[in-house]
Amino acid sequence: MIKKSFCIANWKMYLSYDESIEYMNTFMEFSLDSNKSTEIIFCPSYLSINDIAKYNFPSVISVGSQDMSIYGKGAYTGEVSIEDLETIGCKWCVIGHSERRTLFNESDDMINIKLKSIFNSNINPILCIGETLEEMNNGQTVDVLNKQITSAFKGINIDSNKTILIAYEPVWSIGTGISADLDTILTNINIIKNITENIIKNHCNIYMLYGGSVSKENAKSIISIDGVDGFLIGSASIKPESFYSIYKEFL
Ligand code: PEP
Repeated sequence: MIKKSFCIANWKMYLSYDESIEYMNTFMEFSLDSNKSTEIIFCPSYLSINDIAKYNFPSVISVGSQDMSIYGKGAYTGEVSIEDLETIGCKWCVIGHSERRTLFNESDDMINIKLKSIFNSNINPILCIGETLEEMNNGQTVDVLNKQITSAFKGINIDSNKTILIAYEPVWSIGTGISADLDTILTNINIIKNITENIIKNHCNIYMLYGGSVSKENAKSIISIDGVDGFLIGSASIKPESFYSIYKEFL
């Protein structure tokens, strides 16, 4: 059986509404290989997500949110709830991205609250984890990954109907043009697998992704690593041609 894989575009705050629509119109002209078991996920800004989710996509394309509120519907100015994301047809939600952890002070506890809300919805999580350069240099990578995963899933009754995507994204490689080397990715993906196997005992669909300066040049070698089930792609996903060229490297 061919295992499913995931090619995810995280547009961050790079594309305006008009640019997002133009991007999708271009991308929809590209041919997608229906024999591939690769799912493509677009994560637009909140401003564009509603219109993008309304596209008549083939089944291999779906839409995810870049974030969600820790709160449900109510008096929370500027926030977007998981209920609203679900209503517009969003299938995935990124949580714990290092930019949110660092720039917006998101704690492990907040990520845990978000994951709990996701488990009470029809949305599936894309949980981002990864160590900083300092943590790596201090030999703390295993401890950091362990803490991030364990606290994210704390108190969650894991439902086997969920598909869980865990994106290993070393902070030092995000947006820097320096991807982790193949040995580091293999080692750390295996560490993450061991940690998740210890806390998720039932047979959920769990997939391991890599993120951090994935490009057309390095995609083929990284996706060939045993245990890497896909990519979360930032910079190289903001041009349709560049994102498509990475998708084409999937086996
Ligand atoms: C990301 O935003 O998750 C990411 C991996 O960015 P980049 O591909 O630019 O490193």
